[in-house]
Amino acid sequence: MHQPLLLGTSRKPPMTTLSFGGGQDSAALLNLLIADPTFRKKYAPGLLTVLMSDTGDEHGETLTYIEHVKQLCQAHNITFMHITPDLGFHSAAWQSLYGQWDRNHTVQSLAFPRTCSANLKLAPMFRALNAHVAQVYGYAPSAPRRQLSALYAYAAEHGPMPMMIGFAAGEERRVKPAQSQVIIDTMHRIYPLIDLGLNRRGCQETIHALGGVTPYPSNCRSCPFASAHDLLRLELQEPAALDRWMGAEERKLAAPKWQGTRNHTVFANDLTIRQSLERAHLKYPGMGLQELNHIRFQRGHATTTSF
Ligand code: SF4
Repeated sequence: MHQPLLLGTSRKPPMTTLSFGGGQDSAALLNLLIADPTFRKKYAPGLLTVLMSDTGDEHGETLTYIEHVKQLCQAHNITFMHITPDLGFHSAAWQSLYGQWDRNHTVQSLAFPRTCSANLKLAPMFRALNAHVAQVYGYAPSAPRRQLSALYAYAAEHGPMPMMIGFAAGEERRVKPAQSQVIIDTMHRIYPLIDLGLNRRGCQETIHALGGVTPYPSNCRSCPFASAHDLLRLELQEPAALDRWMGAEERKLAAPKWQGTRNHTVFANDLTIRQSLERAHLKYPGMGLQELNHIRFQRGHATTTSF
């Protein structure tokens, strides 16, 4: 007889997950989980799994911080999954941000829904979590007519799995009803930073007070939410990445398949990235990397994807 799919017998403690973006908000949560026993007991009393899905366009500083987080989690016996495409959890169509853009001669624009986040962050994260849960608890990772069946088996045995989301106080508008049935059925999303009233500054201060390393805010280098300061900084810090992004936009604007459609620029304001960069130079003349780093570190990014 095979083991029933929805009746677990694992006797393992329940699991909490942390959706980790590699920026200051999720870093504050990880530092609290490691260094504050009261917080850990309240939010993640059993097993803890930290998940970060890589978009293939992460900033160099984020990748450096991820290496630090890997060691930190290892030292504290926390499972950390850095989900890169080679692990097999990214779909064929969304191996990376540029993989998708190259396939379709497109580029992400503020004029359209941010499908990148759903396909490069959420989908690989849940596939990886499903595989991990199957392995830890001994559930079948897949079943006929049911994807992510280990997450369903877990929910049947333990109830919906808590998933901590690092939205800070002041970002309440990013909390939206779940769009995916598997999230509705198997996950319980929690927002401890909002509960605790910790905004970005509060996250920075919390990490510092706990003796942790505060990362730069994290989003893709080629994110349509980039500010004028972000463009200036990317030009100085990772000029090849900026060139690649401008090239992708130029390709999209010229591509025959998009002629006669709403063929918007990245920022959807009729200015190309190159023209936006020129304006940024005029508005903020002579800004150096040190000043731009300070601005990004303090203000964060303006990404408003919801979850
Ligand atoms: S950071 Fe920006 S480009 Fe990257 S997945 Fe999120 S919305 Fe898309």
